[in-house]
Amino acid sequence: MFSSTRLFIFLFFLSATQAIAQDRPQTIEQVKTLSSEAFWGRGYTRDGMKKAAAYIAKNLEKSGVAPMNGPSYLQHFSYPVNTFPGAMELRLNGKSLVPGLDFLVGNESTGQRIENASLEKKDSVTYLSAATKTIFVLQNKLTWSVSSSVEPYTVIYLDRTRLKTEPENFSMNIENRFLPAFEAANVCGMVRGTRRPDSVLVLSAHYDHLGSMGSNTWFPGANDNASGVATLLSLARHYAENPPAYSIAFLFFAGEEAGLIGSKYFTENPLVPLSSIRFLLNLDLVGTGVDGATVVNATVYPEAFAELERINNSGNLFSKLARRGKAANSDHYHFSEKNVPAFFLYTMGGTQAYHDINDKAETLPMGSYEQVFKLITGFFSAQMDR
Ligand SMILES: [Zn+2]
Repeated sequence: MFSSTRLFIFLFFLSATQAIAQDRPQTIEQVKTLSSEAFWGRGYTRDGMKKAAAYIAKNLEKSGVAPMNGPSYLQHFSYPVNTFPGAMELRLNGKSLVPGLDFLVGNESTGQRIENASLEKKDSVTYLSAATKTIFVLQNKLTWSVSSSVEPYTVIYLDRTRLKTEPENFSMNIENRFLPAFEAANVCGMVRGTRRPDSVLVLSAHYDHLGSMGSNTWFPGANDNASGVATLLSLARHYAENPPAYSIAFLFFAGEEAGLIGSKYFTENPLVPLSSIRFLLNLDLVGTGVDGATVVNATVYPEAFAELERINNSGNLFSKLARRGKAANSDHYHFSEKNVPAFFLYTMGGTQAYHDINDKAETLPMGSYEQVFKLITGFFSAQMDR
């Protein structure tokens, strides 16, 4: 008896660690794929976002996760967006600058073709060309985003650490294209619960990123949020193989970077009743973790956070789980605004790349994949044991 019990315990640990260890390389591989050039920043040019949606749907199907929108994994919607599909040329003081590295164009900007305009210094970081409605702003770190509108001016952000001379004159050829109704889709799959299928736990992550700025510069978005998507796909495989008591929905949102558009659309057109959702965990930026993790809405749901902390401490997972209050900074937001209990988890420390061309898979450790996996499965188990 003694030895067989030991053998049983040994096998239990072996299988438990193997289930997770086996998925880590696959998760890292999927982060690499989703942030590769083929997906072109999962945005608005070269069908990047559409390709990412198809990739996710294909993986859900392969794992045996059921579609949520009738026979389809996709929930379509559209929104306006300003894009930069073509020319992205800028000369400052006669010297060509590199898009993404030396400069970014403000995402709400109109494109212009300008030959040799002079700049007037307004303050230590601002230079203006009133005649061409162009403004240059010096920054210590370039951070791009997405705009749903286009304004009748052009903003250029310059990386001041790479600037050799004070801006005096410039030429530019920048093309923008405003799309009044860009077609996007949330990707939604579900593993049906064995005991209480009408109680739903949700895992969410946005799969869109910023796309491209000009025809040669794209934003990989490895941490933001290929990390969350790949982690969710591994949890989808896990739950499909080990059907849980409650149903678990996997929601991959589009349009997050343009203003939480996909998740807002879902809460207004839910594919399961919002009242059936017992808890939602949203992952966005989970590729690091040397300094722990942060939980948004922790102070809104103190009991659930205490549960999460208990699981974190007993499993020796993150060195620190920092608590934050309410914040409209990712896709959990519109759910908790509609009284669906929701946390948003992101990891801390490591790479400083954020919304820039350096957010690459090669420099993203995915070092806390196992911690995130165990924290989520532990938290969901506790929800289902009630
Ligand atoms: Zn982002």
